[in-house]
Amino acid sequence: MGDFYSVLGCKKDASYEEIKKKYQELVLKCHPDKQNAHTNVDVVDVNEAWKTLRDPESRAKYNSSLLHSYCAAHRLLFAAVDISELRWCADKQLFSYDCKCGGSYTIYQDMLSSCEVIVNCDECSLCIEVKTPKS
Ligand SMILES: [Zn+2]
Repeated sequence: MGDFYSVLGCKKDASYEEIKKKYQELVLKCHPDKQNAHTNVDVVDVNEAWKTLRDPESRAKYNSSLLHSYCAAHRLLFAAVDISELRWCADKQLFSYDCKCGGSYTIYQDMLSSCEVIVNCDECSLCIEVKTPKS
């Protein structure tokens, strides 16, 4: 099985409505009453994907884990940093961390409420993993 977005056939930045529409189309296609339903989509995968992506919080967690495995697979993980190593920018109310490329990582406070935070560099394709108190 691919990731949940490819299961539902939507983009990673799809809106809730787009995801819901794809889900409903697929559920109809997967319906056991439908004859000649030549589809390689598994209704279990579809339901699991929908369950995860319909909730903003579990979707954010899922996105983070996707990005994490992508970065790990492509060796794009620049560093794993502790919150104490981040620079607090009081004027913008966000944390920042310097990338080796000269760019920086921006971490918003509300991102730190999840247990694992993966942040992309604003200049290059590297990312960092921020260790939050919950992780
Ligand atoms: Zn960078």
